[in-house]
Amino acid sequence: MSKKILALAPHPDDIEFGCGATISKLASQGHDIWYFAFSPCNRSMPEGFEENQLYRELEKSASILGIDGSKVNTFDFEVREFPGVRQEILEILIEQRNSLKPDLVLLPSSFDIHQDHKVVSDEGVRAFKNSSILGYELPWNTPKFHHGYFSKVTQDQLEKKISSIHCYQTQKGKNYSDPEFIKGLARLRGVQAGAELAEGFELIRWIE
Ligand SMILES: [Zn+2]
Repeated sequence: MSKKILALAPHPDDIEFGCGATISKLASQGHDIWYFAFSPCNRSMPEGFEENQLYRELEKSASILGIDGSKVNTFDFEVREFPGVRQEILEILIEQRNSLKPDLVLLPSSFDIHQDHKVVSDEGVRAFKNSSILGYELPWNTPKFHHGYFSKVTQDQLEKKISSIHCYQTQKGKNYSDPEFIKGLARLRGVQAGAELAEGFELIRWIE
């Protein structure tokens, strides 16, 4: 049965890094996937990049992962300022709870120390009381983590994750964008799950 899945990215690329291969898997299984990104990060863009470039790159990346462009929603919150607009973000999420009624929500984990990620994580858990929730792993923001859920993925789904990340020009050269690192992490989570490759998640709530 097709499930409705809502993927919450404080910034474009968080979903790709945190659970790109799982999104690719869910899309190939025919689930209805929605991608919400909250900030174009214009204030933190390196020199030489155009306004809203990340949102244009997100369109390409989402299509690689198999998400329909009409299901990508973007907002204009300032990067690093989410704690001050916590209530507005909660209201957007509550609206989605009532209209979209997702079966599964993917959001930053409760272990994430980035201030914007923390807000989306906390408000997401607050808003989606009747949905399954998994917190995705971003190891550079999650010095500790508890893996309560593993999603096995294929080589092809992992390649889609790597290609989607490489849609983002600003991420080129970052150590965590290195395909070897991304593959190594998937291999590590795979070993923990008794599979070739996997992505690890915090299990926040599971309803079936
Ligand atoms: Zn982010």
